[in-house]
Amino acid sequence: MVKKSIANLKPYIPEETMADIKKEQGLTHLVRLSANENEWGTSPKVTQAILNWGVKDANRYPDSEVTGLRQAIATGLKVAPNKLVFGGGLDEIIQLLSRTLISTGDEVVLTQPTFSEYALHAKIEGAKLVNVPVDSSGVTDLAGMLGSITPATTMIWLCNPNNPTGTYVTHQAIADFMTKVPRSVTVVVDEAYIDFVTSEKPASVVDLLSEFDNLVVLRTFSKAYGLANFRVGYAVVAPQLAKILQTVRLPYNLSTFAEIAASAAYSDQEFVQGVVTAVAKERQKWQTFLTGLKLVSYPSQANFVFFKVKRAAELSTELLRHGYLVRTGLGPDWLRVTIGKPEDNQRVQNLIQQFVQK
Ligand SMILES: *Cc1c(COP(=O)(O)O)cnc(C)c1O
Repeated sequence: MVKKSIANLKPYIPEETMADIKKEQGLTHLVRLSANENEWGTSPKVTQAILNWGVKDANRYPDSEVTGLRQAIATGLKVAPNKLVFGGGLDEIIQLLSRTLISTGDEVVLTQPTFSEYALHAKIEGAKLVNVPVDSSGVTDLAGMLGSITPATTMIWLCNPNNPTGTYVTHQAIADFMTKVPRSVTVVVDEAYIDFVTSEKPASVVDLLSEFDNLVVLRTFSKAYGLANFRVGYAVVAPQLAKILQTVRLPYNLSTFAEIAASAAYSDQEFVQGVVTAVAKERQKWQTFLTGLKLVSYPSQANFVFFKVKRAAELSTELLRHGYLVRTGLGPDWLRVTIGKPEDNQRVQNLIQQFVQK
C-alpha cells in the first residue's frame, strides 16, 4: 500500500531536456530561461580540476565527510566545519530536513508563492501546510508568518530571495523575526539566490546561527556557481542538529566528481563576482523594461524576474517558437524569466513588447 500522505501527491515537474524540446519544436537554437541556471556557464577552473582529477578511484566510495570542500566552505563562511551538512543539491537537503524534523500532523508555515519542494516534502511527511501570502509588493510577510505559529508548528520555510517573486527581506528583519519565533520551531532560510543580492552586503543570515540554534541556512552551487548538473548543496546548522542530519542522510551522497567541481568553483570567486555584476546590470534593464511596458512585477534581487502579463501562456508559446523557454504555471498570467546574456534579454524583451502591443 502506498502511504496515504503520498497517494494523491502531484510530482515536482523537472525540466525536459533541451535536446527533446528542440526536436519537438523543430528548433536549431534554444535558450533555457526557465530554471534559473547560470547563463554565464561554469568557471573554467572546474573543467581544469575535473581534467586534472582524471577519474581516479572510480571503483572506490567517495569521502563521506566531503572533507576538502567542507574545510573550504567553513573557512569562507567563518563557521566551524561540523556545522555543515552536504547534499546532492538542496533538493536532497530539503528532503533530509523534512524527513528528520517533521512528524505527521505537524504544521509547516510557508510563503505563498514559494519554491514548491518545501510543500511537497512536508506533505510526504504528513504535515499540515499553513500558507502565508506575500504582501502587495511580493515580499514575504514575516509578521503574518509569526501570527500563524501555533503549538503544532515545527517548521517555517523562508526562501530569501524568494523564488518565484525574487523579493528579498533584510538581515535585520530576519534577526527580529528570529527573536520572536519559539525555539522549538526550526526556521529554514533557503539562500539559493543570496549571491545575487546587491541591495545589502553581506546579505546572508549565516552569522545569526551563533545566536539561534533553531536556524538553518541553505546554500547551493546550482545557481551563481553554475554547477546545477553536479548536484551540490549544503545546510549550515547547529552542530547538534548537524549530527542528527548526518545520521539520517545517505552515507555517500556526494561523488568525488561533485566535490572536486564544487571546490574548484568555490575557489573562483572572481567568476562568481563577474556573474553577479552582469546579472545585476541586466536585472536593472529588465526592471526598467517591465515598468516601461506598465507590466506588474516585483523588485528582484535574484537572477530572474517575475511579472504579470495577459495571455501569459500564449506569450510563452510565442517565445518558445523563437527559441526561448520561460517558466509558466507559477501564478495565473505570471511568467518567470531567468536573467540571461544581454543579447538574449534584448531579444526576449523585443518579443514581449511586440506581443503586448499587438
Ligand atoms: C534552484 C533552487 C533550489 C535547488 O537547488 P539544487 O541545489 O539544484 O537542488 C533550492 N531552493 C530554491 C529556492 C531554488 O530555486
